[in-house]
Amino acid sequence: MIDPRSLTILGATGSVGSSTLDLVRRNRDSFRIVALTANCQAVELAALAREFSAELAVVADESCLPALRDALSGSGIAAAGGEAALIEAAARPADLTIAAIVGCAGLAPTMSAIERGGTVALANKEALVSAGAVMTAAVARNAATLLPVDSEHNAIFQCLAGNRLSDVARITLTASGGPFRDWSRARLEQATPAQAVRHPNWDMGAKISVDSATMMNKGLELIEAHYLFPVGHERLAIIVHPQSVVHSMVEFRDGSTLAQLGPSDMRVPIASALAWPQRMAGPCAPLDLAAIGELTFRAPDEALFPATRLAREAVIAGGSAPAVLNAANEVAVAAFLAGHIPFTRIAAYVAEVLGRNVLPEPRDLAAVLAVDEAARADARALMELA
Ligand code: NAD
Ligand code: MG
Repeated sequence: MIDPRSLTILGATGSVGSSTLDLVRRNRDSFRIVALTANCQAVELAALAREFSAELAVVADESCLPALRDALSGSGIAAAGGEAALIEAAARPADLTIAAIVGCAGLAPTMSAIERGGTVALANKEALVSAGAVMTAAVARNAATLLPVDSEHNAIFQCLAGNRLSDVARITLTASGGPFRDWSRARLEQATPAQAVRHPNWDMGAKISVDSATMMNKGLELIEAHYLFPVGHERLAIIVHPQSVVHSMVEFRDGSTLAQLGPSDMRVPIASALAWPQRMAGPCAPLDLAAIGELTFRAPDEALFPATRLAREAVIAGGSAPAVLNAANEVAVAAFLAGHIPFTRIAAYVAEVLGRNVLPEPRDLAAVLAVDEAARADARALMELA
């Protein structure tokens, strides 16, 4: 058993949140739940808060607070709602905060956990992509700890243990290639939201599933890696690996390459973050390499999937470019899911918004949020969305 620890989960009702709670359920004696949050799923959130005897449940959307209060009545569990309540929940002492909200909406609460000097297990890559140096500076200033939950970054984190960043020759992020990896351009143009959210290897929320289909997920992850492991963008590479068994690799200057392998189940990297620096028992079937048979690798096709190139350009451009890219992508993905724009226009709109919004480097959280808001407004105007 690992040393017991207290836990807050931001985004408890989502895919990462549910996988986290599944691990907690299997290891009840190791964890005490401080706060659980959701956007609006009041009934679901209340059920989780009761099951795990949380101290506090928070809905980000204040209009859902009456339903949450109702569902929690008689439980003794505190209920709260709205953006300020979410930030306050993240500021409550907890040994570990799981940042698993989707999108830049998770930025302010994640920063709140960082500012109290907490240990933050970060799944919410958009928050780091948008805030970049503002977040990493806050981590350093507050002696906080960021544990990567994204499977690739968790793999890299594990491969780097005991090594110096200065000895790294190259970090290679693996990509499944998503559900459309073998599709033609003509077929891509007709791709529907239902097809895009059906990932061959991973079971995830809708937004990240679309990002995986466009390869923007790997683009965001390239930016995420740039901030988590500052080795220089020229040392960051992407390779398509359809089996999703090798979760990423680190090559050192002496010619050694370390890789982390595991089943394509988010409970593996989440367990690594939950138990860090210890290890806990995981629920997944052991990796059966003989049954898998072959691990294959190929270069990404950036002509067909330009998102990774856009992300690299945003890293090189610096300033507000990563935040603009993320905001434009969030608007474009939502527009695609709502049936307003075709699949292949997602990256095209992101490129266009990036070209139109060259803003200075944000220096603090408020500046990042202002860039995010401006880029979203521009993206909406460009896509002629209401
Ligand atoms: P999801 O859509 O399944 O869940 C998102 C959670 O955030 C839910 O609890 C939802 O209620 C909450 N939420 C949504 N909008 C909100 C808002 N405006 N304010 C406050 N809370 C809000 O998403 P997910 O797939 O679990 O992904 C969560 C994060 O983890 C994303 O950043 C994603 O890129 C990252 N991630 C996910 C996976 C995966 O396998 N799902 C893997 C790696 C990284
Ligand atoms: Mg990932």
